Amino acid sequence: MAIRKIVEMGKDDILRKHARQVVKFDRRLAVLLDDMADTMYEADGVGLAAPQVGVLKRAVVIDVGEGLIELVNPQIVWQEGEVVGAEGCLSVPGRRGTVARPEKVRVAAQDRKGNAVEVEGEGLLAVCLCHEIDHLDGILYVDKMIEDVTDKTEEEEQKEE
Ligand code: ZN
Repeated sequence: MAIRKIVEMGKDDILRKHARQVVKFDRRLAVLLDDMADTMYEADGVGLAAPQVGVLKRAVVIDVGEGLIELVNPQIVWQEGEVVGAEGCLSVPGRRGTVARPEKVRVAAQDRKGNAVEVEGEGLLAVCLCHEIDHLDGILYVDKMIEDVTDKTEEEEQKEE
């Protein structure tokens, strides 16, 4: 188990860079994905993208309570609808804000061995998929934020991504 340090907005411009396509599906990638999952669970988050631990690779991990999803080189290939919901980010601690996201998305990606995988998600999973893929392009939710959420009593979506 290895916990990596989560990069915070304003302290490191790596969060603003475009992550590189993964071409080597080697042990280094496997270790990165393992560490990202450990780091996400330790921080009680529901998603984490590699740039958030200082690695400019197109890799994300997500767990919205339905098991761990690892996606390498993920791309949104289909989306439908729009919902506005509150979200937070492990790289923007102590803040939450509302963002408009697709209601449903389908993502094509690769697994840690390079095999093609597809994930379809709606609700929180759709939000997470979009949020994490944005990280790979240097986009933070605050860039798309409609308004800050200050209501701490909001139980539904307390987790950060
Ligand atoms: Zn985030």
